[in-house]
Amino acid sequence: MDFIQNENGFFEIRLESIGGQGAYSAGQMLAEIGVSGSDLQAICFADYGSEKKGAPVKTFIRFAPSTTTIRNYSPVEKPQVVVVFHEHLVSTLPITNGLDPNGVLIVNTKKSPEEIRNLFQTNVKTIVTVDGIGIAVEQKTKANTAVLGAIFAALKFLKADLAEASIEKMFGYKYPHLVLPNVETFKRGMQEAKFGTFEVDNKVQFTVPITPYGYETQIVGGIIEGANSFKKDLSASREGYLPEWIEDKCIHCTNCDNVCPDYCFVWEEGVDKRGREQMFLKGIEYNYCKGCLKCVEVCPTGALVELIEAEGYGTTNRYEKPITLFGGAR
Ligand code: SF4
Ligand code: SF4
Repeated sequence: MDFIQNENGFFEIRLESIGGQGAYSAGQMLAEIGVSGSDLQAICFADYGSEKKGAPVKTFIRFAPSTTTIRNYSPVEKPQVVVVFHEHLVSTLPITNGLDPNGVLIVNTKKSPEEIRNLFQTNVKTIVTVDGIGIAVEQKTKANTAVLGAIFAALKFLKADLAEASIEKMFGYKYPHLVLPNVETFKRGMQEAKFGTFEVDNKVQFTVPITPYGYETQIVGGIIEGANSFKKDLSASREGYLPEWIEDKCIHCTNCDNVCPDYCFVWEEGVDKRGREQMFLKGIEYNYCKGCLKCVEVCPTGALVELIEAEGYGTTNRYEKPITLFGGAR
């Protein structure tokens, strides 16, 4: 896609991610490279709630010709490009809202552009997919660098050679051993990005999503769908790995539960062979799991092992936590 100014005179990008995925760093790099290599003005800023791994983060990049001073710091509502750092985000956030039908949607996924179009039900001309996690697992890096490569493959006005220099600058001082793997990850992201072009309906009107709960409609007590810790889905935080639980090896020692930051382990009361009351591990709620693998480190029996996440593994093997309702829900 070329540099095309929208109705406000800008070229606008929105990065959809969750905390810990490195989207803000990628956004800063994009803005810097636009300024230094393409003679543009640029700003980059983010919108996030709690500073916690797993919390939603929107990063906005606004480009303008070098003769324009950018004074607009409002969130990008009608982006020309949306970049999704993990396909799972589509199940939790309205990520493609406002995307220009003639724009570009870039998604970190194993899926093809056609599959993403069906999954996201989106009306956009160009869809680019890249298996950022697969590349990162092979290169022992992070998926955001591969996604950055796909962005440069899609946006021709940004100079890729400057991105490689920027990666060297970012890692060279503190982590020189990470420079080459990250440059390779970036190049593979560029080369392995898959493009799909589709018919679009230009008559679809932009709508601002309406928050279902406000001052007058707030629920008293109970569980609010989509905004509570019971129904959270952190699957998008994982970077290619998750713990596999081997029940036969488990001695129900609770070590894993003590270190897990997100209460992923599901327990049930029972009695042991001598008739004493004990808690028994029943499984892992993968929707809560960020893939930090702290539990694998502390398991004394090898009942938890590191597994490269196959598509659908978390959904198929999750042990759903029973939810107890307090107060009234409606
Ligand atoms: S740490 Fe290992 S053995 Fe202990 S309860 Fe967890 S899975 Fe079972
Ligand atoms: S990897 Fe283990 S410790 Fe980390 S969030 Fe998942 S279950 Fe919890």
